[in-house]
Amino acid sequence: MPNINIDGQTIEFKQGQTIIEAARDHGISIPHFCWHPKLSISGNCRICLVEVEKMPKLVIACSTLASEGMEVHTKSEKVIAAQNAVMEFLLINHPLDCPICDEAGECKLQDYAYKYSVGESRFVEEKVHKDKRVSLGPRVMFDGERCISCSRCIRFCDEIAKDPELTFVQRGDRVTIVTYPGEEMDNPYSMNTIDICPVGALTSKDFRFRARVWDMSSTNSVCVGCSRGCNTEVWVRNNEILRLTPRHNEEVNSYWMCDHGRLNTFKNVNVDTRIDSAHIKKDGQLAKVSWDEAIDEAASRIKSFKKDEVSVIGSPYATCEDNFLAAKIAKSVIGTGHIDYIRHIDPSFADDILRTEDLTPNSSGAELAGVQPSTNGLDLKGIVNSIKEKKIKALYLIEDDIVEAYPEFENAIAGLELFIVHSTNQNKSTAIADIIFPAATFAEKNGTFVTIDGVVQRIRPAVAVVEQDRALDGMSMSRLDKFGTQWDRWASGKKVNALPSWRILSLLSKAMGSKVKFNMAEEVFNEMATTIEEFGGMDYDVIGETGMKIKSEIPNKEKVS
Ligand code: SF4
Ligand code: SF4
Repeated sequence: MPNINIDGQTIEFKQGQTIIEAARDHGISIPHFCWHPKLSISGNCRICLVEVEKMPKLVIACSTLASEGMEVHTKSEKVIAAQNAVMEFLLINHPLDCPICDEAGECKLQDYAYKYSVGESRFVEEKVHKDKRVSLGPRVMFDGERCISCSRCIRFCDEIAKDPELTFVQRGDRVTIVTYPGEEMDNPYSMNTIDICPVGALTSKDFRFRARVWDMSSTNSVCVGCSRGCNTEVWVRNNEILRLTPRHNEEVNSYWMCDHGRLNTFKNVNVDTRIDSAHIKKDGQLAKVSWDEAIDEAASRIKSFKKDEVSVIGSPYATCEDNFLAAKIAKSVIGTGHIDYIRHIDPSFADDILRTEDLTPNSSGAELAGVQPSTNGLDLKGIVNSIKEKKIKALYLIEDDIVEAYPEFENAIAGLELFIVHSTNQNKSTAIADIIFPAATFAEKNGTFVTIDGVVQRIRPAVAVVEQDRALDGMSMSRLDKFGTQWDRWASGKKVNALPSWRILSLLSKAMGSKVKFNMAEEVFNEMATTIEEFGGMDYDVIGETGMKIKSEIPNKEKVS
């Protein structure tokens, strides 16, 4: 491979790479505002100016191709003077309103002002004023004074969302961003422009002014809005999720996520429709009971049925660990083969960017974990028909809403002799259940999901539940810290009394006299890794932050792609 030398360090580069790309591949940072690895090059911000020996003038690293033997300097006197000049120029008309700007704390302009500017401006005249609250679309607000005209937002709409909606108008210091006449920026990926805007010019209408960045903690997670499994960061203050942002994973979602996933997949964690206690129906009314009472009641009532009269429905919303225990307990403790899960497919949601027609995060994982009928067991269709025919008398439903999915069977389901539901929130099924277990959401537990492309990915607790010790039983603080969990965020804020479904099932199994017992989600996964070929060789550490692809084709790929 050819070499270039940057600041005395000789590095290899691939033919066709620019200086900034070659440097980045070797961990050498060259400042940039307008350049983005996934967008075309515009070369207009000039902060990436570098000095190349034998070239008469400084060149921009984002558009200058690396060539064999090139000697590049990023910290020479000339470069430092140019960086300072660019910063002074960019700040001439900038309002310097960091104290009221959402971007403060994660703003490139702010960071570079410290790093590449001497901090003095010779400009004493009145700044150019522009509109500060321009609605570009239903989800994004624009502040004209903060914009540095990098054009990243325009290029994102044109090149990634494939929906040209934005453009520059005016010239010089009057230049600003507008939507095309009669257009709004309402593409399904519009909020990615907020992430890539290097300043606070584009802000989220949903998150504006809700928190300072440094007051929140962030936890690596995965979006639960569809089977793409976009990597995310969950941002929490006072045990409340305030926003999701995409996390880079080149194999799964690159730098992006869709607006639906960003806005609509976490609010059920916070809202007051959460189920926050175990319930048992007594005299026709659901009454709050202790965990132990609900577990004992469920165990003794399940045991009163013949094996064939009981059915278990797992969940594509729940983790592999939850589904593995559901299948294991159904088959080896209850003794029924009538086990399946509900598909949630909407072809109109899918596109050729990220969104898939499977609206759940873990159909693939649920099947791999064993949520499939046994040889003589009934599938979902058979189960609902048998409920109607009263052959199945007891139904154990995990993290789904069968009444919403099959409204025509509501009366038959209401006529079950025993209907047990694990649920995070109140829904049509919990309304007619006999026993309800409050389930922890994706943001309150450890576990794994498998994407549409067969990548196994980790989720982690980002907010606390009341029985945190029980939910994470046996997991030491140091182990949690290794997973990126930050305990201090849990000191305050409202907590829900919920447990992960795998944990509830483990308690139930013990109450039914079985030896199937797990204290940690990681233990469940380790057993999956030794008993399910596709998970072979994996553990939580190996899966890491960006996931690991399973070895064989995922079983239900045709159903969800
Ligand atoms: S709004 Fe942000 S991303 Fe768009 S041109 Fe201005 S600074 Fe760049
Ligand atoms: S594409 Fe799917 S996984 Fe990605 S953010 Fe959207 S809903 Fe979530």
